[in-house]
Amino acid sequence: MHRLPLFRSHYNYHYSIVRRLHGGDVLYTTSAVTSAVPSASSSSYIVVGNGPIGSSIAKHLVQLLASANNNNKTTPKVTIIDGKGVGVGSSHADKARLIRTFDAEGDEEWTTWNIRSLQSFPAIEKMWHKSSLLEESTNKNKSFFTQCGALLMGDEEFVRRSKNAADKATMMLSSSSLSSSSAAAAGKLPPTTTNKTSSSSTSTVATPIRMSPIECQQKWPFLKPKVGCDMALFDSSGGIIDPNAFIEAQNTITTAIAAAAGTNSRNVTTIDDDNDNNNKNYQEATTVPPNTVEFGIISDEVLKVGRNRVELASSTRKILCADTVIVCGGSYTKPLLKNSGYYCCEKKKNSSSSKWETIRSSKRIVALLEVSADFVQGILKDMPSIKYAFDLDLDLNTNPNDEKMMPIPERADAATPTAGEQSRVEAGSVYILPPVWYPGEREGEKGKWFIKIGGGDNKWIDTKNEIDDWLFNNNKSGNDDDDDEDDDGNTTLSVSRLEDIVRSLMPTIQFDSVESMACVTTVDSNSSPQSNGIVVDDDHIEDGIIAISACQGKGAGPAEAISQDIAYKIYHNQINQ
Ligand SMILES: Cc1cc2nc3c(=O)[nH]c(=O)nc-3n(C[C@H](O)[C@H](O)[C@H](O)COP(=O)(O)OP(=O)(O)OC[C@H]3O[C@@H](n4cnc5c(N)ncnc54)[C@H](O)[C@@H]3O)c2cc1C
Repeated sequence: MHRLPLFRSHYNYHYSIVRRLHGGDVLYTTSAVTSAVPSASSSSYIVVGNGPIGSSIAKHLVQLLASANNNNKTTPKVTIIDGKGVGVGSSHADKARLIRTFDAEGDEEWTTWNIRSLQSFPAIEKMWHKSSLLEESTNKNKSFFTQCGALLMGDEEFVRRSKNAADKATMMLSSSSLSSSSAAAAGKLPPTTTNKTSSSSTSTVATPIRMSPIECQQKWPFLKPKVGCDMALFDSSGGIIDPNAFIEAQNTITTAIAAAAGTNSRNVTTIDDDNDNNNKNYQEATTVPPNTVEFGIISDEVLKVGRNRVELASSTRKILCADTVIVCGGSYTKPLLKNSGYYCCEKKKNSSSSKWETIRSSKRIVALLEVSADFVQGILKDMPSIKYAFDLDLDLNTNPNDEKMMPIPERADAATPTAGEQSRVEAGSVYILPPVWYPGEREGEKGKWFIKIGGGDNKWIDTKNEIDDWLFNNNKSGNDDDDDEDDDGNTTLSVSRLEDIVRSLMPTIQFDSVESMACVTTVDSNSSPQSNGIVVDDDHIEDGIIAISACQGKGAGPAEAISQDIAYKIYHNQINQ
């Protein structure tokens, strides 16, 4: 099992692929597509789960396969299988997820994924729009991202940590981009990349700025944070995504890339590795016949994964085969592996560490506070998303021997927060989203504007039954969390406490009603300094199985960049590098 490190060594090369993809030439140009991507080791992939991560991994795999110098006799194929349509739960089933150019845990890698994803959104939306035009007559622009800005509020140390990570990530990204440009200028990158470097296809995002309590008060007079928790960091380029629209965008683009790969004639640039000098020489492009990639989405539940195959739940219990099965089922990944005989929760033979021991699902509850259209168009018009750390010193280790409690690490070194830091920050903070429109669920039912708030300590569950029970039997009631102290004596953030926090932070806003929603995240609380919470498990690669956990309660916004790195590593067989 490997925790995904940021793509440092391949970053320049890999970045060039992103730029080309987002430039749209793969899809829409009538001229040839130029590629320097070597062949894949697998030619067929099944991706279990069409969430933000699975849909994005599939897109990048199809892109890599479509660009490859493919000498395979069989047609490369990527198939997504997703159970949403047949009642499988997910972490993204909602209207909004926030993203910004910083990270609440001050993690540099997550900050980088956030920035890269934000930079890519305009191009993805544009490609989605163009791809949709092939099928729809509507000319309405497609969008999944709303730029409303993002605010982080808390004590000085909390804010400074995120700011430092944002500054470092921005510097790292701009030096990567600079060295990419100079490599291109020196003829070290493929011709298409050289052309593209002059007209950037990723958008620029702002670096977050520090704001004093007085500046915040002037800009958002309706906010009244606790004294001592009123230092702030503001990112004007952050905002919220509609996760379902994002997935639709990724699926539509993937379909179009696959379709275009079969019809466009391609120029392939070959690479000569000059290992002694660690240089790559790019040779003249030559025209080759069209490269075909098949892409499809199946709506079904995967009951089991096995050697190069999956078993579907549909009445025939159909078996589908592929060279590689990539499990991106969010909280359901761990139960699926276990149900398939991959004893991910037990210790590996001859190993002191347990697989998936520190990765668990967490019961989350959100409160939805209804606001009127007058407030939405009035005082709340410029409301950003808010991460409000009101009590980071909360001691949640009331019962450390309780197996439902994950040990919360000592306050992590501010410079190197670990995956385990997620629990501490979640416990002492909330996120609040600006008004989001929720259409009525039933026909004739009117939609409403809601301010959404969530946060609080992680409460662990593991089995499919526990996850289903929480998602489907508690949905909209939040009964399990009605008290501030649960059955085990642990502090929790109940719906009423979440509501109180919003009311005290925004005392002048009138809320017309309160609803709640049960949801689930997957969290890796590994406290090793190397761990960033993204896990790409290839322990069963001999069976062609790779399992991914990439949530940490913040995996939807940066899914594009995280998945790009994961897809690249899977494609090039480099998971353990
Ligand atoms: C309340 C809440 C608030 C959040 N807020 C934010 C936020 O503000 N910003 C942010 O970036 N992130 C946020 N997140 C986290 C984010 O939603 C997740 O990180 C993200 O959805 C993870 O994506 P995923 O693709 O890994 O998993 P999921 O979103 O869970 O998708 C997995 C998919 O796999 C399918 N699946 C699972 N098992 C099977 C099976 N056996 N067969 C077939 N299909 C299967 C599921 O149905 C689902 O469609 C929040 C999460 C919650 C719960």
